[in-house]
Formats: sequence, C-alpha cells, structure tokens
Amino acid sequence: MSDKELQPLIGFKQMDLSKEILQAVDKMGFSQPTPVQGKTIPIMMEGHDVIAIAPTGTGKTVAFGIPMLEYISLTDSRIQEVILAPTRELAVQIGQEMEKLSAFIPEVRIAVLYGGQPISKQLNQLKKKPQIIVATPGRMLDHMQRGTARLSAVHTLVIDEADEMLKMGFVKDVCKIIEAIPPARQFVMFSATTNQDVMTISWKYQHEPVEITIPATKENKPQITQYVIPTTREEKYDHLLYLLDSDEFGRVMIFTNTKDGCRRLSEKMNKAGYQTEALHGDIPQSKRNQVMAGFKRGKFPMLVCTDVAARGIDVDDVEAVINYDLPTENEYYLHRIGRTGRARKHGVAFTLLCFTESVRLDEILKYMESKPTYLKFDDMGTLRFQESGDAFFENM
Ligand code: ADP
Ligand code: MG
Repeated sequence: MSDKELQPLIGFKQMDLSKEILQAVDKMGFSQPTPVQGKTIPIMMEGHDVIAIAPTGTGKTVAFGIPMLEYISLTDSRIQEVILAPTRELAVQIGQEMEKLSAFIPEVRIAVLYGGQPISKQLNQLKKKPQIIVATPGRMLDHMQRGTARLSAVHTLVIDEADEMLKMGFVKDVCKIIEAIPPARQFVMFSATTNQDVMTISWKYQHEPVEITIPATKENKPQITQYVIPTTREEKYDHLLYLLDSDEFGRVMIFTNTKDGCRRLSEKMNKAGYQTEALHGDIPQSKRNQVMAGFKRGKFPMLVCTDVAARGIDVDDVEAVINYDLPTENEYYLHRIGRTGRARKHGVAFTLLCFTESVRLDEILKYMESKPTYLKFDDMGTLRFQESGDAFFENM
C-alpha cells in the first residue's frame, strides 16, 4: 500500500498477534492491514460485538479471521466459532482463507458445511472435532437438528455478507442459529451495505455493538473502468466474441441472468472454440466446486455464470467482467463488476446493452454514481469510442 493517507495507524506487528498468525500473514504476502482490518482486528480482539460496513474487496475475511483464530482454545475440541455465509461458494472460499491463516497452527480444525454436499462427507469432517465451522444457514440448522453439530460451547459468531444473507430469505434460519448460541457470545456482522434487516438483527441480538464504517473512497474502491457497448439482440453474441478477440484477457467472467442462458451461452462458445465452463444454480454442488477451483487455478480462462458467482467470490486477476445480460438488481451490477479490480489491481467491466435495457442501465449508473465510457464496434469489428449511448441508439 503506497498511499500515505491509506496507511492505517498500526501495522500487523503492532496488533499483539501471535507469531503463528504473523507468519501466516507474511506467507500470504500481506505487508499492511487494509483499513477495515486495521480497525476491526483490535476491536474484535477486545471482545466487542461489531457491525462492520465496508466495500467489497477490502479484506473483510482476514479482518474477522485473525481475531477468531487468536481466540480459539486449542485444548477444547468443541465447536467454538461459527461463520455463516450466504452461498456455498463463499463458504468454501472463507474456509480456504481460514486454512491459510491457520497454516502455522496445525491444531486448528475447520469444517465447511453447505447444502448440496453429501451429509456423510460432512459427518466425517464433524467427527474430526472442528473448533471452527463455516456454513450456509440451512445446512448449519440441518446439522443442529440432527444433533450432529452442537453450538452450546460457541463463543464467537460471525455473519459475512449479512445484507445478502438476510435478503435471500435466511432471516428465520439465522435467528434460530443465533438463539442456539449462548448469549455471552461475541457476535460480529460484516456487510457491504446496511439495510433494515441487518439493523433489526443487530438491535435484537448484538450487545452495544461497535460500528465500523469504511467509506468507499477512491483508494479503496476497486479500480474498475466501465464500458458500455450498445448492441442488438441479434448481434450480441457476435459482439461478445469480437470483444473477447479484441484483447488478450487472461481471465474473464461473463454474467448472464438465467441458468438456461448461462448453459446455452457456454455451450455455444465452446463449440466456437472458446474455452469456457458454466456455473449456475442447477449444476450439482460437487461440479460447482470443481468449476470454481479450476477457474481459480487457471485451468480455463472464461467462466460463464449467473449471479451465484457475483457475491464475495475472490479470484485473483479476473481482468474483465462482461455483463452479457444486464442484472435485474442494481446491487448485482456492483457485485458483478467487483469480481475484477480486486486487491487494488486495475480491472475492466463491459456491458453489452440492448436498447430495451438502456433505461435499466440509467438506473444502475445513478445508483453507482458512475459514468461509463461508451464503445461501439465498427463494420470491421473494431472497437471505437462513442459519445454516449443515446447518440448510438438514435443513429440506428
Ligand atoms: P471482501 O470480503 O472485503 O470483499 P476479501 O476478504 O475477499 O474482501 O479480500 C479481497 C482480496 O484482498 C483477497 O484476495 C485477499 O487475499 C486480499 N487481501 C486481504 N487482506 C489483504 C492485505 N492486508 N493486503 C493485501 N491484500 C489483502
Ligand atoms: Mg467477503
């Protein structure tokens, strides 16, 4: 982190962390805490309840991961800490980040529980007596009801992506889980935005929470250049291919709105010689994990996906995000393009826009407070700058 203003007051070394954690942070290549880490880690380590609002890509996982690992009693083999995440992919990713953070504390055992994976596999994980559980709410509740996971010794509960979790209709499940945990717990919520549901849960279950808000500044906002390419329904697919051919993007995520559209686009692209895999909610969980892992490892360069992959997922070096369809919710635009420009790298986002979608886009841009650059393909399939979308559509 070069910008002086961004330097938090303290570094990892001044945070009173164990040498195992410092070693892990060093191995992960982090020299300075991000602002949300600088603020949250000391406060969580003092035992306060926290509600932290920070933009996506600012390092929230490590912000709660470090205090959780510092808190654990290695001699107690009961479940002590629970992290809830809204999607399976995110739960898996948090589990991986926690494994990295605990690389030098071999006694730490982490289980990741989510729907769609065989219960038997998860029972094996639970038999190993994990102290930390990362779970989606439904599956957590399932194990509680089966008696295969007991939360009576839990002292720390973290809800990641709280806004999304509550919006997805998990409110009841989340409340049941919170209520199964002893009241003297530390309860921390992380969110990219706040909403009424988040505030209600906080009011109901948190004790004098410390509020930490990290504003989206120019520095910690992911650097993403946004482009809009006006097109037509008939030309959209060709324009997508022109776009992919116009540059050597290492890793690209292409978003569609429907599972069916996702599957069809991926198949069509594969037939045309583009290496893609599809990721959507109808694909079996084991395959979804395989696809995600393959994409992260660079086994194939293009992921065609629905919004299951929009939230919280962190893949290094996604160079471009393409909206093949415009998302139906403003926030999803933000989360989709937030898959690029992570960890302060520069990213680009393209939206292929049909005329009928232009009103929708105006709403999104108003919400984003951003001004994209308009591009268009000329007859030779070359991208040219364009004054604005209006001018383009008027000339059609
Ligand atoms: P968020 O949950 O806020 O969206 P993540 O926890 O997914 O963000 O982190 C985003 C990226 O930043 C990850 O690749 C993570 O490894 C990286 N990261 C986290 N902490 C630091 C740090 N202190 N310095 C550099 N990179 C970091
Ligand atoms: Mg996150």
